[in-house]
Amino acid sequence: MSDLTTLRLYGNSESDIQQAALMLKDGKIVAFPTETVYGLGASVFNPEALKHVFEAKGRPADNPLIAHVSSIEEIALLAEDIPEDAKLLARAFFPGPLTIVLHAKKEIPREATGGLDTIAIRMPNHPIALQLLKLSGPLCAPSANISGRPSPTNAYHVLEDLDGKIDAVLDGGQCTVGIESTVIKLSPSPIILRPGMISAEQIEAVLKKNVEVVQKGETHIQSPGMKYRHYSPKAHLHLCSTHEEFEGLIRKYPQAMKLSLHVSTQFGDIFPLKEHTYYDILRSADIKGVSDIIILFPIEERVLKSALFNRIEKALGQQ
Ligand code: AMP
Ligand code: MG
Repeated sequence: MSDLTTLRLYGNSESDIQQAALMLKDGKIVAFPTETVYGLGASVFNPEALKHVFEAKGRPADNPLIAHVSSIEEIALLAEDIPEDAKLLARAFFPGPLTIVLHAKKEIPREATGGLDTIAIRMPNHPIALQLLKLSGPLCAPSANISGRPSPTNAYHVLEDLDGKIDAVLDGGQCTVGIESTVIKLSPSPIILRPGMISAEQIEAVLKKNVEVVQKGETHIQSPGMKYRHYSPKAHLHLCSTHEEFEGLIRKYPQAMKLSLHVSTQFGDIFPLKEHTYYDILRSADIKGVSDIIILFPIEERVLKSALFNRIEKALGQQ
């Protein structure tokens, strides 16, 4: 799977979207934009195409995929015994960066579920993705990167990793959210398996009940894919929480790239730590051959910015 010619298609062209949809219906694998990150799409009902997605990404076979739909009604094509809470969440947050784990219909190929009896489903909030999905039908779409690398937030990132390994990329510019969806499982009780921009508090407000967040060290029990190291640049990451530690690390690694939630001129050039630019900064560090990245992330901000902090912990291999 490394001798394909990857076709460049453009999301501002209706005929290019149609071509991408035809390719997907024909069993091809095509990367497309969503509001979170670019996904590598394959038809949910085509096990061969799904296998190609795992091969192209180098993704472990037990890491299940997220199925994408173009409407709330389409969920019924993929899942059964849908609980009332899932309907409430879909009405409140679809389309948007929330993935709901539901009981899979028996006709869903095991390649889509990683062999589980559940399937993760979301409806992306992106006009090009929704138009494509309307024409192609439901698509499984993990992030369109090599497994373990920072997720792709533009078409150039996709090609960096997958040029020659996938059939096409549909270019829709920059992703606006920039980190992956919140993943939630509802039974026996609501638990967030992966934090994202939709928070536990927002979900609690809709469900009117307590929502747990999976604890460090338990993620692999609930969500098989989360046990792997993820989202990592080639550089070593150094995480600290205070200005004093930050200064100490800068002295130790004077050539390091620096990232901070709050940019101040006192430490020289610092990149702002923001969800929608985070992966792009990590990828630019790789291109520049940066060997160390120092991240200042105060303890008191780690709960409020739990999605971003989770990606940093994952890159450190700490969760
Ligand atoms: P990615 O496609 O790379 O954004 O990763 C998908 C995430 O959703 C992984 O962390 C998976 O473990 C999780 N996921 C997908 N399907 C399921 C499922 N059926 N049960 C629990 N977690 C899931
Ligand atoms: Mg991924």
